[in-house]
Amino acid sequence: MEKILMTPGPTTVPERVLRKMAEPVIHHRTKEFSEIFGEFSERLKYVFQTQNSVLTFPAAGTGGLESAIVNMFSEEDRILVVCTGVFGERFAEIGRIFKLKVDTINIPWGNCVTVEQIKEKFNENEYKGLIVTHNETSTAIVNPIKEIGEFMKEEEALFIVDSVSGLGGLDIQMDNWNIDVLITASQKALMAPPGLAFVAVSEKGWESANKSNLPKFYWDYKKARKVLENKNPQTPYTPAVSLILGTNEALKMIEEEGLSNVFKRHELLAEKLRKETKTMGLEIFTNANCLSNNLTAYTIEQEGRAAAIKSRMEKEFNIVIAGGQAHLKGKMIRIGHMGYVTEEMIERTVAALKQCL
Ligand SMILES: *Cc1c(COP(=O)(O)O)cnc(C)c1O
Repeated sequence: MEKILMTPGPTTVPERVLRKMAEPVIHHRTKEFSEIFGEFSERLKYVFQTQNSVLTFPAAGTGGLESAIVNMFSEEDRILVVCTGVFGERFAEIGRIFKLKVDTINIPWGNCVTVEQIKEKFNENEYKGLIVTHNETSTAIVNPIKEIGEFMKEEEALFIVDSVSGLGGLDIQMDNWNIDVLITASQKALMAPPGLAFVAVSEKGWESANKSNLPKFYWDYKKARKVLENKNPQTPYTPAVSLILGTNEALKMIEEEGLSNVFKRHELLAEKLRKETKTMGLEIFTNANCLSNNLTAYTIEQEGRAAAIKSRMEKEFNIVIAGGQAHLKGKMIRIGHMGYVTEEMIERTVAALKQCL
């Protein structure tokens, strides 16, 4: 049986996308590339559910996070970061490195933040920005982005969302939910290989970008926007041409299926996995009111057992799953079901897990 990545990134890439990437490399300063890049950028708007331009950088998702900090803020700005796990903490750390004043809301792992908790902090302090992780991959929770966006509509602070492992599997409506900067990457729910980071910025965000004094060269959003919104869309520096061709194909697949069907498929497959694993006695780590449809995390108490399950799943069944991160290392297994996931893949994973347990 072929190897599948049931991990929360990178995820399994469909054959159709892989084939596209094997095509000859197009020179990026040509009309041919501009046409493809223009269409590609329009397709990104569809998955971001936005009218704003979506910028493409050759980078890991973390590059996308850093780019948001250096483009939106200035030294000494005070921001609020919601930490629900590893990725919220990473965003806070980037802020501190760039000399921002970073306040955090630290949520016990496995839970999501509430709008009330954010409101309380906003009553105590003035913030230039609020940063929230959409789908916290280390704990398999989803934060209530829509509700937070309703609150942020009345605030001056920018609303920045890390949806690196959310967008493409979970509904996220940049424009309707008042998001000012939305970040994602190619290798998770977007069914493409690692290597591209995507960022969209609202009008309010662009005003901040004009004032920001943090150092940047490669990450400068204004330069990227200028050449993207050209008659012949381009990137400031050499783009990852083959990855763009591949991801363009993945976005076509999402278009063909239709975004709402894609979300529905993720929901149904997540429910199926949770239902089947419940009967095996596996304990879900995440609080029941913030479960993610993109991945599931299970608590594995016994020392050495998580690593053993992970290893057997791969060696005997050709299925790659993930372990826990940070203090949960060795105490958890995580199964990704985002992007190119079918019912058959869930069934195969469940059957293999049964054997391993
Ligand atoms: C994976 C992930 C990132 C970082 O992506 P890299 O490509 O590994 O840098 C950031 N945020 C979240 C929520 C993620 O799941």
